[in-house]
Amino acid sequence: GNATLSAATILSDSAERRPDHLALVSGAERITYGALWHSALRYAAVLRERGAGPGDRIGLLVHNSPHFPVAYFAVLALGATAVPVNVLLKSDDIAYILRHAKARLLVCSAGSLGEAEPAAEAAGARVLTVGAGAGPGPHPALDELAAGAAPIAGPVPRSPDDIAVVLYTSGTTGRPKGAALTHLNLVMNVTTTMLSPFAMRPADVLLGCLPLSHTFGQICGMGTTFRAGARLVLMGRFTAEEALDLMEAEGCTVLMGVPTMYLALVEAAARRPGRPGLERAYSGGSALPVETLAAFEAAFGCPVHEGYGLTETSPCVAYNQPGLPRRPGTVGKPVWGVEVAVTRPGAEDALEPLPAGEVGEIVVRGHNLMAGYVDDPGATAAAFVDGWFRTGDLGTLDDEGYLTVVDRKKDVILRGGYNVYPREVEDALLRHPAVARVAVVGLPDPALGQEVCAVIVPRDGLRPDEKLAETLLAWGERHIAAYRRPRRVVFLDRLPLGPSGKVLKRELAALLGPAGDAGRPVA
Ligand code: ATP
Repeated sequence: GNATLSAATILSDSAERRPDHLALVSGAERITYGALWHSALRYAAVLRERGAGPGDRIGLLVHNSPHFPVAYFAVLALGATAVPVNVLLKSDDIAYILRHAKARLLVCSAGSLGEAEPAAEAAGARVLTVGAGAGPGPHPALDELAAGAAPIAGPVPRSPDDIAVVLYTSGTTGRPKGAALTHLNLVMNVTTTMLSPFAMRPADVLLGCLPLSHTFGQICGMGTTFRAGARLVLMGRFTAEEALDLMEAEGCTVLMGVPTMYLALVEAAARRPGRPGLERAYSGGSALPVETLAAFEAAFGCPVHEGYGLTETSPCVAYNQPGLPRRPGTVGKPVWGVEVAVTRPGAEDALEPLPAGEVGEIVVRGHNLMAGYVDDPGATAAAFVDGWFRTGDLGTLDDEGYLTVVDRKKDVILRGGYNVYPREVEDALLRHPAVARVAVVGLPDPALGQEVCAVIVPRDGLRPDEKLAETLLAWGERHIAAYRRPRRVVFLDRLPLGPSGKVLKRELAALLGPAGDAGRPVA
């Protein structure tokens, strides 16, 4: 059809309605909507001068700083496609993404040039730098060029189905795949999450502690905030202390984070007086243990709404929406315009919906589904059945349509013919006072196929010795069903986390090896 739509309007509309309102706080910088949008239009002019135009893919390897939104919305305004890349990635992974996306231009934080330069060279991409330390040198400084450029007139009109961003999945379970998200996907996500009157208001201040390269921080965090004309307070790499400082100094009202952040915030809050004036908090990205949710609510005096999403579903599928009864332990109900079903796992060609309460694969349908994986027709075909997207996650729906995520299919442990869902074992172990962090994985076992192993980070000050391992195993005997209780305990100082703060189980399993003999005492 003739309809046009640009996700750049997420920012431009707020710039038009409230040009003088503060959009962004980042370190000492405070930037209004008018100024942010104007900068984006000037960056767009420079990118255009360098030959970029509608349909081109442009890599963004930019830290959480004002350069991220400026470059991102410049790319969208130009009608090009943004390919954000996490700044924690190493050169080989950056090269893989740039090459796979056929990005010939990379906007790069000067501080990341060490990894980016060889990657861009290998992928044949030219580099423009931003931020402290940018240019002079072989790579021109985009911000300096933009200062002297005449802004482009406004967003280039796009069709709703044109690709706005390609987001490479975080690679928690395998090689990253490029999810192609349309302008409509982005606009709908930021709009549906705002339908509830409590979701995000112009007076809100969001703590931007998630990486802007990841779907959660980028689309839910930055996108929803800008759509509402609210304020985003950016922080770099997450530490709980700095997050608390910023919440207090900037009067943050909303928090969006992953469970590892909630755990760290509860611990840090216990070490200092007072509490910030948060009004609402949203958790997603992986399962939030009910214990952690309760501890956070007690410490911060504000409700936590857990949600569920994937890169491929741009991202929000369901969440405990303000205004509906909240059900801790569930991820709430699907967002407006999105359907969820739970189907018999293993039914590859036809979906077979299961009755309420039964565990099966979560499938999703609606305006939030990606267009497909870039250059990967095989993976795209495998992901869709009859217009539904197969998430690869197991879950249940209750009678009222609340969704519970049981675990990833790939993480399920098959022990002696029984399915063990690690999340349930983890939640149980987390109730033991000695356990600060836990991940449950399957280790190869000659008799049972797999054996259940708990990898545990003990609370500060506790000795990770044989005795503690025995205590935990004995506790498991009393509180966890025999078929799924851990028979092995391994202690580590910390769990390996991916760029978006999720536990990397693949890495853990490799680390433990077939004998489960890495780390400290094994019981
Ligand atoms: P990759 O696809 O590369 O393995 P990833 O799955 O971590 O990486 P994301 O799109 O960042 O990629 O994450 C989506 C996944 O996160 C979901 O499929 C699900 O397994 C998990 N997830 C998200 N929210 C929740 C939640 N509330 N509870 C449990 N799991 C969740």
